[in-house]
Amino acid sequence: MESSEGRAEGSGRAPRVLVVGGGIAGLGAAQRLCRHPAFPQLRVLEATARAGGRIRSERCFGGVVELGAHWIHGPSQGNPVFQLAAKYQLLREKDLSEENQLTETGGHVGLPSVSYGSSGVSVSRELVVEMASLFYGLIDQTREFLHMADAPVPSVGEYLKKEIRQRAASWPEDEETRKLKLAVLNSFFNVECCVSGTHSMDLVALVPFGEYTVLPGLDCTFPGGYQGLTNHIMASLPEDVIVFNKPVKTVHWNGSFKEASSLGETFPVLVECEDGACFPAHHVIVTVPLGFLKEHLDTFFEPPLPTEKAEAIRKMGFGTNNKIFLEFEEPFWEPDCQYIQVVWEDTSPLEDVTSELRHIWFKKLIGFLVLPSFESVHVLCGFIAGLESEFMESLSDEDVLLSLTQVLRRVTGNAQLPAPRSVLRSRWHSAPYTRGSYSYVAVGSTGDDIDQLAQPLPTDGAEAQLQILFAGEATHRTFYSTTHGALLSGWREADRLIALRDPQAQLPGPWL
Ligand SMILES: Cc1cc2nc3c(=O)[nH]c(=O)nc-3n(C[C@H](O)[C@H](O)[C@H](O)COP(=O)(O)OP(=O)(O)OC[C@H]3O[C@@H](n4cnc5c(N)ncnc54)[C@H](O)[C@@H]3O)c2cc1C
Repeated sequence: MESSEGRAEGSGRAPRVLVVGGGIAGLGAAQRLCRHPAFPQLRVLEATARAGGRIRSERCFGGVVELGAHWIHGPSQGNPVFQLAAKYQLLREKDLSEENQLTETGGHVGLPSVSYGSSGVSVSRELVVEMASLFYGLIDQTREFLHMADAPVPSVGEYLKKEIRQRAASWPEDEETRKLKLAVLNSFFNVECCVSGTHSMDLVALVPFGEYTVLPGLDCTFPGGYQGLTNHIMASLPEDVIVFNKPVKTVHWNGSFKEASSLGETFPVLVECEDGACFPAHHVIVTVPLGFLKEHLDTFFEPPLPTEKAEAIRKMGFGTNNKIFLEFEEPFWEPDCQYIQVVWEDTSPLEDVTSELRHIWFKKLIGFLVLPSFESVHVLCGFIAGLESEFMESLSDEDVLLSLTQVLRRVTGNAQLPAPRSVLRSRWHSAPYTRGSYSYVAVGSTGDDIDQLAQPLPTDGAEAQLQILFAGEATHRTFYSTTHGALLSGWREADRLIALRDPQAQLPGPWL
């Protein structure tokens, strides 16, 4: 690590830039700016004690687990996270292969290896394959509504249910099989809620849904942990650029702020931290999660944001997806098993749930991925989205472990199934500087709201330009909710500043 002290020498007139948030968007922006000679006065203010944000790998069970981002979605040449990870040699040989990079998955989750029903009997593979093909066929069809003026229904969920209701009317099977088919479909709805980070697909807008862009490539993971990526970016920054445990309270802008030590110089922005520390700046790149912005909208900016931007923030969707890891001494699954689906036979996407969350929260769990690469233990990773996921965060580890042991005993039909040895879970909704998992385009909003959020301030050509810039996954119109969307947004805003301060600069373009 180089020190920024030397860089700051003789740089009295260089612009002061602050980046708020040390996730991949903020780190990406900082790395880009640090490489440019016009920005020797740069600081990243991070609220927590660590960098990476929603990229969070933890050593556990004798290996590494991901509490946040799990896969590189679409690892191929057009994906900057894939390119960086490859450059830093963080990926497996097979994930770098051309064959993997060219594979088209359509962004759909793979088929389960086994589907356990809540009656303790496995659901036939044939029926699961038939329902998966129906469900993902309908998901693909939603693209037809992109940019359409009048869609038949407002949400993806309502569209899926309308089509399923029609088809179900002509299913030839007996009542029991028809019910089972709907229960399997309900499980796919739960998966889709995890993918979109939402409580219900009824909250996800139909028309703009197809704007999310899936890159080619077979999703891959980081053998040493996703955080290796953000650690590498961080290591390339001068030592004292990142300030940890510095939560920002308010960004004061459109002002004329002075600092005792900078003789007479004024700054249009003043960043005030929760501990009272104040940082004057010419430019601030805000990369805090949309969940945090929603919660603190009234106090985080002074003067408040223009109405259109505040409205976009209110309308955009930001929900919860959590992971629950269970550690077992012995596997109860087959050696080649990768994904265990759980099907609650009394559920249907066509019926609303009415029971209290404490009685049914676990029914939202999609099932479990079998995590490879643990030497002496066996680890499953469950995914759960929505209000049930937020309720799960309020329970103790013991309660979660007990409920899931009961679920597993019930679906495997083995009342003696040994309880997991331990549990570890994420709690993204309770995390004060995140308040959820990732963004989606909610009913009542469109991709234009994403662009609105990404617009720098002020918008009226005031003397001091680009006082506040906005980056983070929720500001990328086609790659929102991903690490590559977040990274690209950080680069976009860094390039915007570079273009302002050095109009002759040769920008590297949107990729590396
Ligand atoms: C459970 C889960 C699974 C996911 N799976 C995937 C996946 O498989 N693939 C994928 O591509 N993406 C995935 N994502 C999404 C991905 O992790 C995010 O899109 C991406 O990491 C967001 O990066 P960011 O820099 O925009 O925000 P963040 O990583 O959230 O960074 C924002 C930073 O701002 C800091 N901050 C907040 N408030 C303040 C404040 N007031 N002052 C100072 N600092 C502040 C936060 O502490 C944080 O460090 C997943 C996310 C979750 C939660």
